[in-house]
Amino acid sequence: MDSYSSLEPLSAVDPELAELIKNEHQRQASTIDLIASENHVSRAIRVAHSSLLTDKYAEGYPGRRYYSGCSVVDEVERVTVARAKVLFGAEHVNVQPHSGSQANFATYQALIKPGATIMGMDRSHGGHLTHGAEVNFSGRLFRVVTYGVDRETELIDYDAVRALARQHHPALIVAGASSYPRIIDFAAFSRIAKEVGALLMVDIAHIAGLIAGGTHPSPVPYADVVTGTTQKTLRGPRGGFILCTTALGSSIDSAVFPGSQGGPLMHVIAAKAVCFQQALQPAFRRYTEAIVANARVMAEELSGAGLRVVSGGTDNHLVLVDLGQLHITGKQAEIALERAGILANRNSIPYDTQPPLMAGGLRVGTPAITTRGFTPDDIRTLTGLICRVLRQPDSDQVRDEVRSVVAEMCVSHPLPESY
Ligand SMILES: *Cc1c(COP(=O)(O)O)cnc(C)c1O
Repeated sequence: MDSYSSLEPLSAVDPELAELIKNEHQRQASTIDLIASENHVSRAIRVAHSSLLTDKYAEGYPGRRYYSGCSVVDEVERVTVARAKVLFGAEHVNVQPHSGSQANFATYQALIKPGATIMGMDRSHGGHLTHGAEVNFSGRLFRVVTYGVDRETELIDYDAVRALARQHHPALIVAGASSYPRIIDFAAFSRIAKEVGALLMVDIAHIAGLIAGGTHPSPVPYADVVTGTTQKTLRGPRGGFILCTTALGSSIDSAVFPGSQGGPLMHVIAAKAVCFQQALQPAFRRYTEAIVANARVMAEELSGAGLRVVSGGTDNHLVLVDLGQLHITGKQAEIALERAGILANRNSIPYDTQPPLMAGGLRVGTPAITTRGFTPDDIRTLTGLICRVLRQPDSDQVRDEVRSVVAEMCVSHPLPESY
């Protein structure tokens, strides 16, 4: 392990926390992360993130703050917004949301009233908590109509979405997902929204990096508002952002602050700036192409090994595996894989017969391992290991053998310190 030099002052002040962070470094370095929403940030992003910008209160927006001493952070936020505008071709950008969920909360607040009808994707078909789940504010504040995928093709059924929209006349349609392995047709959503007089919000939390890198079509020309996160495929710090038209800019801004947040996290905004800067480089396009190529190989290998892949494959960074024929649940798969050093998460599949806590599927994603330099050949080896574990989840021998190959793969693909 490297000395992790940035921890030296911390280890003097707080050895307990320094030790925990070192342990987390060790854990990340020695396991293979297939959690589709995770990634590894560059050292440059970590440096910005750990800077003294965290000290500054900056409620408001550049040039209109409620505190003095904001001249530098004004520049930080302006630069961040300017880079995001270029990256996504957006007219207006807000980089203050603390997370993707906060971005969605603010967007709902800007566009609709409590009690309004929203239409979002069913969670077991790939939708997110904030798209109308009963346990979430979105399900409590709004009347929710959910759409999903076709039972046969497992693709979004746009005709069914249109029929539901005509029937329920939602004020807002939400497109975007957390576990949908295919391209989403934003033009189709936009036509449906226009037809029924609904606004269209597209949540690109998962695929923001693919859109930035040109490996997934952009919703910006079609959506009223686009929300996203920087921590997933975009490979930045944990945080949210909102893209919208100039016309909606001031409602979005006031829904973020003062509507739903106080002071912005200026150190995180600075780290978002670095993230956008890195995503603007040609190397980032190649990175996102490699993410998608790796996911394709993974889907092919899993299918080739006789497992059923939801929708028959993938167009993006993730693959959803139906564990039904293996007679194990997602929870069992997740536990068995973790014991072997491979991290992936249980996930409901469309029309799942398992309860969500067990789940009938497993979601695997390639953003983090692609950052670590995994090639299609590595993916073939890795998928073979995954299949062994899934077929014999209770075998200690399989666990130990897989674990030792995982350890070798981790050594040959160290966590990147810079890229
Ligand atoms: C991850 C995700 C979010 C929320 O992101 P947080 O930063 O965890 O709040 C929102 N929408 C979708 C579709 C997501 O996948």
